[in-house]
Amino acid sequence: MNTTVTLGKTGITVNKNGFGALPIQRITTEDAGKLLKKAYDAGIRFFDTARFYTDSEVKIGEALSPVRSSIYIATKTAAQNAEDFWKDLDTSLTLLKTDYIDIYQFHNPSFCPKPGDGTGLYEAMEEARKEGKVRHIGITNHRLKIAHEAIDSGLYETLQFPFCYLATDKDIEIVTRCKQENIGFISMKALSGGLITNSAAAYAFQAQYDNALPIWGVQRESELDEFLSYIGNPPAMTQELSDLIARDREQLAGNFCRGCGYCVPTCPAGIEINNCARMSLLLRRSPSELQLTPQVQEKMKKIEDCIHCGQCRAHCPYGLDTPGLLEENYKDYKEVLAGKPL
Ligand code: SF4
Ligand code: SF4
Repeated sequence: MNTTVTLGKTGITVNKNGFGALPIQRITTEDAGKLLKKAYDAGIRFFDTARFYTDSEVKIGEALSPVRSSIYIATKTAAQNAEDFWKDLDTSLTLLKTDYIDIYQFHNPSFCPKPGDGTGLYEAMEEARKEGKVRHIGITNHRLKIAHEAIDSGLYETLQFPFCYLATDKDIEIVTRCKQENIGFISMKALSGGLITNSAAAYAFQAQYDNALPIWGVQRESELDEFLSYIGNPPAMTQELSDLIARDREQLAGNFCRGCGYCVPTCPAGIEINNCARMSLLLRRSPSELQLTPQVQEKMKKIEDCIHCGQCRAHCPYGLDTPGLLEENYKDYKEVLAGKPL
């Protein structure tokens, strides 16, 4: 089995286990440093972060600047104009303790930045590449429409898009198109935001797509160890794993919240929608005691403050009836608290 992947025309070739550095925001600098160094020592060379992930870039800069030339760093900007683009880029370079970003990505924009679109974003990106601050230009997105537009535009060397074993045919088409167009494909949410708990099945699925580089979001050493063990011993798709995937696909098909968090800033009631709208799944697919603490109960109670403004529904890239999902999940949660068996 080929255990490396090349990101299209960037030529970046790395082990098929990328490090997703979103969750290291939640742990101490010391613990994050240990994880990052352990990943590096074991052969992981691709690290994906974002300006938006609070101190994730700082932690990468602290831990990995001594080995900067042997790793690839992808980070992201959510800037909406050129001025903020340059501010973000300078901040990321400083925090990451480097003078170049391997792949600089537009972070989930609501449109596909192009030259002449009036925002100045793509022009700034090109200028940054000319100056050597950025080596390759990428984009991340949750929406099929924008992913297709980015591929069609020919302006991007990589596309980061949600891709896990719950993918639909439409998602798979994006991966295939990237391969045809020689655009690097980075699989985001390869564990579907924590709903996929069998990492071997997740890995075996990704292994079927030779152009996909999954970035695993790890926070605990035990999680990292699982992926590190796959470097020398990659799991193949067995009947057992494919049965498990079939069961999960049945359980998680269609209308479930992927936890992308895209709707969260829009909520005037301050509801933590990305977790609350998928609580029934979290309760059953991860240790339930983690979801039944007084803190989580308080977060769930906030669903009562929903004013049904519909903002979350309007922003959900999966077209979900988010307020309805919140209600269903809250009802189930209260029943579980009252003793309903899981
Ligand atoms: S409908 Fe409810 S949950 Fe959705 S954004 Fe409005 S207040 Fe928040
Ligand atoms: S409701 Fe939609 S936008 Fe909000 S977190 Fe879930 S999947 Fe994302």
